[in-house]
Amino acid sequence: MKKLSLHWKIIIGMFLGVAVGLIFSSINGGNIIITNWVKPFGTIFINSLKLIAIPLILASLIKGISDLKDISKLSSMGGLTITTYLTTTVIAVSIGLLVVNGFKPGNTISDETRTELVEAYSNDADQKREIAQEKKESGPLQPLVDLVPSNFLGAASDNKNMLQVIFFSILFGIAMILIPETKSKPVKSFFDSLNDVILKIIDLIMLCAPYGVFALLASLIVEAPNIDLLKSLLLYSVTLLAGLFIVIIVYLMIVKFFLRRNLKEFIDGILPAQLVAFSTSSSAATLPVTMDRVHNYLGVKKEVSSFVLPIGATINMDGTAVYQAVAAVFIAQAFGLELSLVDQLGIISTATLASIGAAAVPSAGIIVLVIVLAQAGIPEAGLALIFAVDRPLDMFRTVVNVTGDAMVSLIVSKFQKS
Ligand code: ASP
Repeated sequence: MKKLSLHWKIIIGMFLGVAVGLIFSSINGGNIIITNWVKPFGTIFINSLKLIAIPLILASLIKGISDLKDISKLSSMGGLTITTYLTTTVIAVSIGLLVVNGFKPGNTISDETRTELVEAYSNDADQKREIAQEKKESGPLQPLVDLVPSNFLGAASDNKNMLQVIFFSILFGIAMILIPETKSKPVKSFFDSLNDVILKIIDLIMLCAPYGVFALLASLIVEAPNIDLLKSLLLYSVTLLAGLFIVIIVYLMIVKFFLRRNLKEFIDGILPAQLVAFSTSSSAATLPVTMDRVHNYLGVKKEVSSFVLPIGATINMDGTAVYQAVAAVFIAQAFGLELSLVDQLGIISTATLASIGAAAVPSAGIIVLVIVLAQAGIPEAGLALIFAVDRPLDMFRTVVNVTGDAMVSLIVSKFQKS
């Protein structure tokens, strides 16, 4: 019998979770059975994702930056590539914020369900209030001060400090490029293989995903039997898909009006890479196909495609960026938290950084979402709310990630020629 691929197993896990949850919530005492015997597996699964977050960022960012090898030699192409990547990411997060504030998917949760949720996650809500209070009392430059840790091990010991770990990793990567290659070689080999080990750990965790999703959904249903939670998850998914769709439209407009390329040619050229991205949920796994299509079918010179695309696979994730914005605001809405304009501007910068820090593998986005939630003071427990629908959405956001990389390589290619 043909082996079922992981995303199908996860989808089956989702449906079984909903079915078992519904059955047990109609049985007397069924809630307690699920809470005592099924929910812990969901918690273990989420914990294992959180466990890998700091090592993942450290390894993937240091590897990504040190792969640049020579900053000065590559500075013009590197500068253009990174600026364009950052610009498209900021646009993507902003689109995410616009759609989620427009659709307000989290607001469809009734007061009753919201109170249940807040009670279930009251510890986090208390923490959030404390953080919000601390934030209020600190000066305007405090976020900048908070970016620089005074002790690396201290920073790495708490998921909330992920931005500090990102700062350290960037500094480390740059310093590696600035010292002679003979000196940096052992460290580089170490981080290259550390990166591989971490990616393998994520693979292993993802093998448990169907069971984790089953447990999460079953306990979600018995704990919040209100059907409006499911309705708002559906609305959340539609909101995110709308955001991703708008980003694709923006790309197509850039290709047509700014790059003056034939749209059909672009779509035909990139489609196979998009399909691989959709079925693997991994920009890294799709990279060989993306490189082939961009070079051989879209006519981008090898020296540009082989520089721009691998970096893009690691740091440019516009789909993931839209997702960070939509998911963070959705969770805040679900918990009944008001996000001010300043909070939302904060989300633009943290979501941009988080999408840069995300590895190009399945579910990396939900791991780094912890950063955005923690920085905006949104309860991390909200991850449990969205996890169930995360994998199918990951497939769509990876398509956008890969399309964005291809589009930027066309921009860099045009600029390099002139
Ligand atoms: N799966 C995505 C990618 O590889 C990252 C994410 O989880 O958002 O591009």
